[in-house]
Amino acid sequence: MNRFSIRTRLILILTLILLSGFLTTNIISYTASRKLVRTSIIGDNLPLARDNIYSEIQRDLMRPIFVSSLMANDTFLKDWVIAGEKGLPHITRYLLEVKEQYGFFTSFFISDRTRHYYHFKGLHKIISRDDDHDSWYYEFKAMNVEYDLDVDTDQAQDNRLTIFINHRLTDYAGHFLGVVGVGLNFDMVAGILDSYKEKYDRNVYMVDSQGLIQVHTHREHILKTNIFEQEGIRDIAGNLLGSKDEPSLLEYDKADEHYLTTCRYIKELDWYLLVEQNQTRAMAAVNKTFVKNLLLSLLITLFTILGTILVINYFQKQLEILATRDKLTRAFNRNEFERRYNYLAGMEKRDMLKLSIILFDIDRFKVINDTHGHVFGDAVIRKIADIAREITRENDILVRWGGDEFILLSIGDIEHARTIAQRLKDGISSHDFYSDHNVDSDLTGPVTVSCGIAQHLPEDDLDAFVNRADQALYAAKDRGRNCIVY
Ligand code: GH3
Ligand code: MG
Repeated sequence: MNRFSIRTRLILILTLILLSGFLTTNIISYTASRKLVRTSIIGDNLPLARDNIYSEIQRDLMRPIFVSSLMANDTFLKDWVIAGEKGLPHITRYLLEVKEQYGFFTSFFISDRTRHYYHFKGLHKIISRDDDHDSWYYEFKAMNVEYDLDVDTDQAQDNRLTIFINHRLTDYAGHFLGVVGVGLNFDMVAGILDSYKEKYDRNVYMVDSQGLIQVHTHREHILKTNIFEQEGIRDIAGNLLGSKDEPSLLEYDKADEHYLTTCRYIKELDWYLLVEQNQTRAMAAVNKTFVKNLLLSLLITLFTILGTILVINYFQKQLEILATRDKLTRAFNRNEFERRYNYLAGMEKRDMLKLSIILFDIDRFKVINDTHGHVFGDAVIRKIADIAREITRENDILVRWGGDEFILLSIGDIEHARTIAQRLKDGISSHDFYSDHNVDSDLTGPVTVSCGIAQHLPEDDLDAFVNRADQALYAAKDRGRNCIVY
């Protein structure tokens, strides 16, 4: 009982050490991973994505601005306007060339004198102050700037959302002649955002200075959603759009999820580019790894404990064998014999059993040893123990009593013991010990045993019981050996 509790305690302590060790290292690496994910989002990924997208948009906007500027300085165009806008095919071809050459969505020229709106397919319309769609022209003219970007629908092409680059055209003296420029398909800008959303699993969108979404990977937000009214982000929207010079990076919570948002002002569009990362989702992989590691640790702990239990059991069994049995023959030792005798003696009284012992000793064993050597002598002793075990019942107890002396404690009366002794004696004397070991049998003759038998009497203690068998064994030796006395 005590031994069992020591074993249990050992297993418990080992489990505790393993579990707490694994748990601590897992928690430490989990915390470190979370921190790493967060710092890499804030420090690298998000600003990098923001600046990459910004650069791509800038690059795509710079080219049409440059081309518009070229058009505004083109002497053909100036001369054609100054000469009175004669020959529609000339301007149409010119605008088509520009559009085709640079792959823009549209190209146009609006004459201030005639109010003609020319584009790459011909004369589109005559603009008017009364048409809301044309108000941009009058506003641009009034602004007195070289060029301007305007996001609008293109009436000339199915009202598709277009970024127009409007450039001022003047004559050689600097007098205003009209507005020339190209249009970029807005889908191109939206496409850049889509590719980034795909690549980095981030929300990318643009808002104007009022916070109204102008471009979004989810089209349903465009011109419908204002970040100043959206749950979560509205708390930081003011600060996000606060600076046009420095990009900002702020965080907010929405529906139990944490978002990191960075913002950069795009001067050309007067819009803000926002790149947003769902931190909760980014952490999901770390959480998953943590759970996986925990399960793995549990499994390792389980197998370690299982292995430990098996090893302990094995060695416990070995110890038991060492403590209770004789090493050479595996027969029980005297201690174990006493313990088992006491147990059986208790049963004897209670269940009216009868107990007998056969004390047997190898005849002239000294001679066998001296003639054939100790190794052979050992083999004989071992074999005799084997034969004894073969002819006895499961409950019979074989004990190595001394050097070449054994006791067989059996449940049964003296007659039963005599039968066993006879079988034992015959079994041993008929066995050829020599042929197993290539030893000359003629020198010592067959191996025999002498047996002394005694039945347990009620008044017997162990000594008296064994003593009577011992007396009988003496008598057997006296009678010339290889016989049974009781
Ligand atoms: P007896 O017929 O009177 O019993 O003659 P014996 O020669 O067998 O005499 P005894 O029983 O007194 O001698 C036992 C011998 O057994 C003495 C000892 O050298 C030998 N012996 C005791 N233990 C071992 C053992 O483990 N291995 C071997 N090889 N010999 C042993
Ligand atoms: Mg002997």
